[in-house]
Amino acid sequence: MTAVATGVGAGTLAPVRAFDAFLGDPAGDDAVISTSRSVLLDERAAFPDDEIGAVTAFGLQRWYIPAAHGGAFTDALVPLLMIRHLARRDFTVAAAHGKTFLGAICAWVADGSIATRMAGLVETGRPVSWGLTERGRGSDLSRSATTARLGADAVRVDGGKWPINNAVRCRAMTVLARSDERGGPRSLSLVLVDKDEADPATIGYEPKVASHGLRGANLAGIRFEGSVVGPDTVVGPEGHGLEIVLKSLQLTRPFTTGLSMGAVDRALQTALDAAAVPDGAHGRLLDSPTARRSLGVAVADALLVECLMLVGVRSAHAVPAEMALVSALVKFLGPDTADLLFRDLTRLLGARALVVGTEASGALHPSAFGAFQKAARDSRVVGIFDGNSVVNLNMIVNELPNQLRPAPAPPLAEVLAPLRADAHFDALDTTALRLVTRHGSRLLRSLPAFVDALDDGRTSRAAVDAARWIGREYTALLAEAETLPRQSQPDPLAFHLAERFALVFGGACALAVHLARAGAVPGPLGDSDVWLAAVLERVANRLGADPVQAPVADALLDAAARAHAAGGAVTLLGSWTERS
Ligand SMILES: Cc1cc2nc3c(=O)[nH]c(=O)nc-3n(C[C@H](O)[C@H](O)[C@H](O)COP(=O)(O)OP(=O)(O)OC[C@H]3O[C@@H](n4cnc5c(N)ncnc54)[C@H](O)[C@@H]3O)c2cc1C
Repeated sequence: MTAVATGVGAGTLAPVRAFDAFLGDPAGDDAVISTSRSVLLDERAAFPDDEIGAVTAFGLQRWYIPAAHGGAFTDALVPLLMIRHLARRDFTVAAAHGKTFLGAICAWVADGSIATRMAGLVETGRPVSWGLTERGRGSDLSRSATTARLGADAVRVDGGKWPINNAVRCRAMTVLARSDERGGPRSLSLVLVDKDEADPATIGYEPKVASHGLRGANLAGIRFEGSVVGPDTVVGPEGHGLEIVLKSLQLTRPFTTGLSMGAVDRALQTALDAAAVPDGAHGRLLDSPTARRSLGVAVADALLVECLMLVGVRSAHAVPAEMALVSALVKFLGPDTADLLFRDLTRLLGARALVVGTEASGALHPSAFGAFQKAARDSRVVGIFDGNSVVNLNMIVNELPNQLRPAPAPPLAEVLAPLRADAHFDALDTTALRLVTRHGSRLLRSLPAFVDALDDGRTSRAAVDAARWIGREYTALLAEAETLPRQSQPDPLAFHLAERFALVFGGACALAVHLARAGAVPGPLGDSDVWLAAVLERVANRLGADPVQAPVADALLDAAARAHAAGGAVTLLGSWTERS
């Protein structure tokens, strides 16, 4: 699946830049997505119709369709970064539009004629939803009570799904339903319910769900009462519904980091703007040592999420058979870190972090703080959908024996190749996805080799020391995991262990991104490894080591403030993303 590395310059990410340019400057009231309008719509819990319409007219949905089915999806990093650009401006718009990617994914995994049909649907620009969860049943999809009677001439669906994004607006929904009353892992199937095919009188809706974040979203319940569609609407083989969903989630989970990153970009932008202007008696936050430390640490957190994003999406291409574990690690640690960043920046901004509306922002853009608190609320949802944090930790626990199984260490160059800036991919190999891994994550397994490679005499002592600390923690965790009792209901201690494994994995991601970038064109944060030192020290601190050292936090903040003041994004990805 890996194509020749021709590099970003060859235009792989040109559509991302075109999309960013199309979206324009959100500070302008006439932008496709203006910050002021986003904030006002959110306060009214109003759906962003015009914004969604504009994005659809641009054709973002074409990047949700694999090239093999006539779309523009080749390298998953492209739509992921597009979603990040969108979420940076308005998370609600990104979640509402990007939901079609989730609604369609089971068809891509199932492949065959249903994928062709799905491509036709997505191409229309009308939303496709994903109907998995049901009221009162939470994450346990095996308890789904919605039924699908699969006949030779028709499929009949009865039941309900809740809460569903775009429940009312969608043209079609991929519905998980019970097709065999006897139960067991093969008792569920997936059905594509196209509302243009089923009798509308058989589909009902529950009222809009009023939510803390994503206020404007079309979040509601849907009821199927004898909804009949054709026999060619079954997604994948009969009885394979749960398996296809679980494999699809391995792809959608890393995708949610695009949403988290968009929110994080927005938060940093507001905090760096606010820190640079005098605030009453305090002067500038940028001149306060305490505030500087918090800001530097927040930048480190943002870069950790970016490393997870990159590793997640590139692993989906390069090592699909490891995604059962990698997707859970990324999906746990990404939103967890974003939540931490919002908590810390809320403390830093004080009362301003809770300002709603578009007034009272002093020298900043009138919507700056309204947009901050909207992003803070919206981004909280990432830790809940596509498997909440506890579900992902549970998956990590289940995967620990595979990580412990002896296996030869893969060559370092092979592990790093997918993370190089000049790598690109033609397609996702969904046939290689597995419900369990054989040997866990090779990236995690390579951590000791990463640490040794870093200690080359040229890397800063701070980065090497923090890497060594995390390396020792990894060894200790493996030893602890060996002693864990194997039981179907994991011990609470096992969840704690999984959480620490995820942090160590975060450290491994940062190290891998650093090593893979060697020789690449420096990004906005420059050539120095100070970002790595800060991320590793922050990870180590969350694992129990000392806090990030002041000089390290200071140096990272200075680099980030310079990039920000020059109109650039705080990112490791260089020209891959541009400031919106
Ligand atoms: C804004 C939004 C949009 C959504 N959109 C959609 C959509 O489009 N389609 C769709 O199908 N669903 C959607 N959902 C539903 C979402 O995916 C579910 O809410 C979620 O999967 C179920 O998780 P839960 O935390 O709500 O509930 P539960 O799974 O019931 O979890 C509640 C709590 O129980 C505990 N728990 C759960 N599992 C375990 C475990 N294995 N071990 C130990 N403790 C556990 C944890 O403390 C957990 O936090 C949406 C939800 C929201 C908020």
